[in-house]
Amino acid sequence: MEGLWQRAADRIRDSLGQVGFETWIGPLNFLGMQGRTATLEAPNRFFRDWVSDRYLELLRQSLSAEVGQSVDVKLTLGLAGNSNLHEAVRRTMPPGPSAAEAAPRDRHPQLNERYTFAEFVVGSANQFAHAAALAVANQPGEKYNPLFIYGGVGLGKTHLVTAIGHQLWNSGKRKVLFMPAEVFMNELITSLRRDRMGEFKEKFRRVDVLILDDVQFLAGRERTQEEFFHTFNSLHSDRHQIVLTSDKVPRDIPGLEERLRNRFESGLIADIAPPDLETRVAIVQKKAAHDNMSLPSDVALYIAQNVSSNVRELEGCLTRLAALASMDRAPVTVDFTRQALHDLIRVQDQRPGIDGIQKTVADFFHIRLVDLKSKKRTQHIAFCRQVAMYLCRKLTDNSFPVIGEHFGRDHSTVIHAYNLISRRVGNDSAFRMSIEKIERELKIDQRAA
Ligand code: ADP
Ligand code: MG
Repeated sequence: MEGLWQRAADRIRDSLGQVGFETWIGPLNFLGMQGRTATLEAPNRFFRDWVSDRYLELLRQSLSAEVGQSVDVKLTLGLAGNSNLHEAVRRTMPPGPSAAEAAPRDRHPQLNERYTFAEFVVGSANQFAHAAALAVANQPGEKYNPLFIYGGVGLGKTHLVTAIGHQLWNSGKRKVLFMPAEVFMNELITSLRRDRMGEFKEKFRRVDVLILDDVQFLAGRERTQEEFFHTFNSLHSDRHQIVLTSDKVPRDIPGLEERLRNRFESGLIADIAPPDLETRVAIVQKKAAHDNMSLPSDVALYIAQNVSSNVRELEGCLTRLAALASMDRAPVTVDFTRQALHDLIRVQDQRPGIDGIQKTVADFFHIRLVDLKSKKRTQHIAFCRQVAMYLCRKLTDNSFPVIGEHFGRDHSTVIHAYNLISRRVGNDSAFRMSIEKIERELKIDQRAA
């Protein structure tokens, strides 16, 4: 149930923004669900009335969206609400610069406590990034600096870099600063406005480890990039560790200054790709165990097979399943799961299309879709393209000329590719197994699409 609230809270944060969220939603205490009513505890009366006037509908919608059914929200008063007036008043004040100042110098950074190495499932898609993260956590500032981790949404970047923070923090003396790049930018703007750049610089240059999450948000922000460039250099020359995440490699972040790009590329770059089926099953099982939920293995497999794109979605399925099962007091079977998740999982018997094949093949070989469809003739890309053409012919009803159009080529090129790859599939069993793996992925992607 905790997970349910965390996820609903994430939705609310997205629509309210970080400051509004911390002011009004963060202080609420989720007490649980009874039937279809969620109960939240507010720290005092003023607070309760304020939230109930302005945010009740948002709370209701966010919780309902997670549960997949309409949910009522009840706001109650906490016991401490009346007695600890001072605390209550402090908490209702919007956090201005004073809130930042109030944070004592060496306070534990705001690391999500669930995001540890122990909770991270390692599979082929993330093992390199995981190994790099471990190395940095064990020898910060020494080997890979900066460490730059990139990958799609919900694949575990924030989790992994937070785990570095935890491990360093636990190892003792390290000053670890974790921060979304957007927050870095906001703090910079505030400091500029209040003429407090001295403090700003001091704050960042003092840390031993700076973890900046989602640096793609720096794109196009000149002043922020300039300041970050100086922060980076100062930390780097003192051999302090810098860890960055992004949804793309540095060279693909539009509007990123060249000098920053060079810095970002100067350490180790590791990617996280979508997890394969085995890893997804392991993740589902681990999350269930963590939430003390007993999950039959056929249900774990069902979820993993049907949700393939993103780990956050996997978790969402599990959260909803747990909520519905406890509300209905029903055993969690595959049928129950299918119904509970019907709108998250759309089972499609359709065969994959040309676009889907192009995308899956590009992902599989870790090349960009635009390159696959381009005229580039480097050997690797040309080979991936031939595989994609072969699969389009084999798995769809499209003619050679139509397939050719999707690649900007004529039909003879497609025929040549088809013959070439068919022959190799016939002669080379290792190669055939790779092709079969792509075909399996295509089936799974289809079902999750
Ligand atoms: P990103 O920052 O890449 O968008 P997150 O780190 O926020 O993704 O991960 C989304 C969710 O998926 C988190 O709850 C995280 O714990 C979970 N997750 C992602 N990858 C893994 C993994 N390999 N093992 C366990 N949990 C994972
Ligand atoms: Mg993230």
